[in-house]
This record gives sequence, structure tokens and C-alpha cells, in this order.
Amino acid sequence: MKALLLEAPEKMEIMEVEKPTIDKDELLIKLGYCGICTLELRLYRGDMEIYYPIIPGHEASGIVVEKGEQVLSAIEPGTKVALDLVTRCNECYYCRSGKSNMCENRFKKGNKVLGGFAEYISVKSTQVFPFPDSIPLAEAAFAEPIACCIRSLKNIDITLAEDLLIAGAGPMGIMHLEAALCMGARVFISDPDKIRRKLAAELGAYLAIDPAAEDINGVVKEHTGGRGVDGYIITSPAPEALGHAFEAIARDGRVNIYTSYNEGAALSIDANTLHRNEYLITGSEGRTEHDFLQAVRLLSFGKVNVKPLISKITDFENIEEGMNAAMSNGTYRVLLKP
Ligand SMILES: [Zn+2]
Ligand SMILES: [Zn+2]
Repeated sequence: MKALLLEAPEKMEIMEVEKPTIDKDELLIKLGYCGICTLELRLYRGDMEIYYPIIPGHEASGIVVEKGEQVLSAIEPGTKVALDLVTRCNECYYCRSGKSNMCENRFKKGNKVLGGFAEYISVKSTQVFPFPDSIPLAEAAFAEPIACCIRSLKNIDITLAEDLLIAGAGPMGIMHLEAALCMGARVFISDPDKIRRKLAAELGAYLAIDPAAEDINGVVKEHTGGRGVDGYIITSPAPEALGHAFEAIARDGRVNIYTSYNEGAALSIDANTLHRNEYLITGSEGRTEHDFLQAVRLLSFGKVNVKPLISKITDFENIEEGMNAAMSNGTYRVLLKP
């Protein structure tokens, strides 16, 4: 089969590799689509290293083509699935205490991980999440990033009838928006890009604010009776987004730093401000199996619309162009179709 192999930073090639075979408790999947996410971009640029060579790709969907005889679930060949390809060890303290997103062995050598940039993949049955036939495979590939947004929203306990501000209306900002609306929040979103603000508004944002032209904190306070928002999620690494955090939130407000920063980004806040206001500051990393299941169900129920996020579909031959497109501001998600 064909696969894209990353052999060193910026050295990704189409290779003929052996088509995987399955163990008794595994399934063989013919891959449908795989999103090009920040993780793949970081691997490609060499900002992050797991091991070489590696087949990248962790936002994948596909169709079951073969089922091992010891697979207990009723899943049959022909079923559409989303794949959990950030493999966990299921042995460490975090895996066993329900926080597998913190798994200590996730990216350790010897742990087969990612693999979505290929024609086929073999996976354990626990890595597979079935979709109804009615959901297009390209949309099923969004289960993974939506699961990360669900984790992020849970980390700051977003709940019914709360106000949330999302900094950044890129793909992750939009997916946060849609998941937060499912949780019953009223959502403010900020982004300097007019097209991104327009899409956010169409998908249900209460207000889409231009941080370059408007005073975010003033606008938010005006609409929340002077109180500020209950939750603030930073999906953009722009330093201003971090800077606004403690001005836009209410007393007892919660902040989640969802984005990662290439260079260190220090938070400067007076400890007394935290003490007096009971602010909660957290981050979020990945997702658990439960988050994944919930993302699959939201997509299956038609509660989130990811169609507008598919900016481009690329293939093996044009992967470099696809990677470049994924890095540009004008796109949401670029999907690889093996
Ligand atoms: Zn991702
Ligand atoms: Zn673990």
C-alpha cells in the first residue's frame, strides 16, 4: 500500500509499504480522510519529534474492511468509523484513573501511534468509533478535533446559560463554538479576520468581535451587565489573546489555554487577583475516550456542522501543497484523501 512517511523534518515521501495485517483483536481499516492538524504541521516542521520514520495523521476516518475473530463488538466490514490514533497505554496511572489524555506513554518509542496518512491501518477495536451511514467520511474525520474541544470545555465546566468568550475563530475556535452551543452557552468570539467572524456568526456566535477595531472587554462587559464572561478559551496563540484573559472574565471566571505556544508565553497576574476573584486557570491537552465518543455522537446527531470547515481536499501527490495550505490563515481544515 501507499503511505506518506516522514523520515526527517520537512522530508515526507510517498512510499510503498507493507499493507498491515490484523491480530485477532484488531480491525483493518481502509482510510477515507485524514485532517492535517497542528500536530502534523509541528512534526513536519520539526518543532516536535515522536520518532522517525513515522506515518503522521491522527484525525482519520475510514471503513472497516476486515474484522479479527476476537473482536467482541458487533461492528462489521463496511461500517464507517472515526479512529482514535493517539494510542494510550491503558496501564499508567492516568489511563487507569480516567484521564488517558495525560497518558505517560503516549508518544514513547515502541508505542505505535498516528498512521492516518496511509491507505490502510490496523487498529484495536477500542480505537474505532462507528458512525451511521448517513455521515460522510470527510465529516467523520472531525470527531478527533471536536473531542479535543469537548475536553477543553469540560475543563472549565461550561454549563447551561453561561457566557463564554472564545479567542480565535479558526478551525478550533469554530469547533469550540459549536460544541459550546450544544452545552447551552452563549458564545462571544473574537478574531481579526472578517471572513472568520462571518462564519462564526452564521454558526451561532452571539457576537463576533474584531479585536483590532473593538475593545473586547468593553463589548463583553456591556453585554453581560458589567460582569464579564464565565469562561474564556484561548484558541489563538496571539499574545493579545492571553493578555485579555483577566479583563474579560467575571469574578470566579475560568480560563482555558487551549492553544500551544511555540515560544514560552508568560502569564503575569498578581496572586492576590487570583485569591480574591477565585479565578481558575487551566489548559487542555488532547481528549479521553469519553470525549471522543461524545464528539462522534454530536456529529451523528447532526448537532455540529463541520461542512464549512473543509477548505481543501488533497492527496498523496500534493501533500506538500496541502501542508502549506493547512499552515495558511485562509483555510480551516485541509483533509488528505489517500
Ligand atoms: Zn488534531
Ligand atoms: Zn497511559
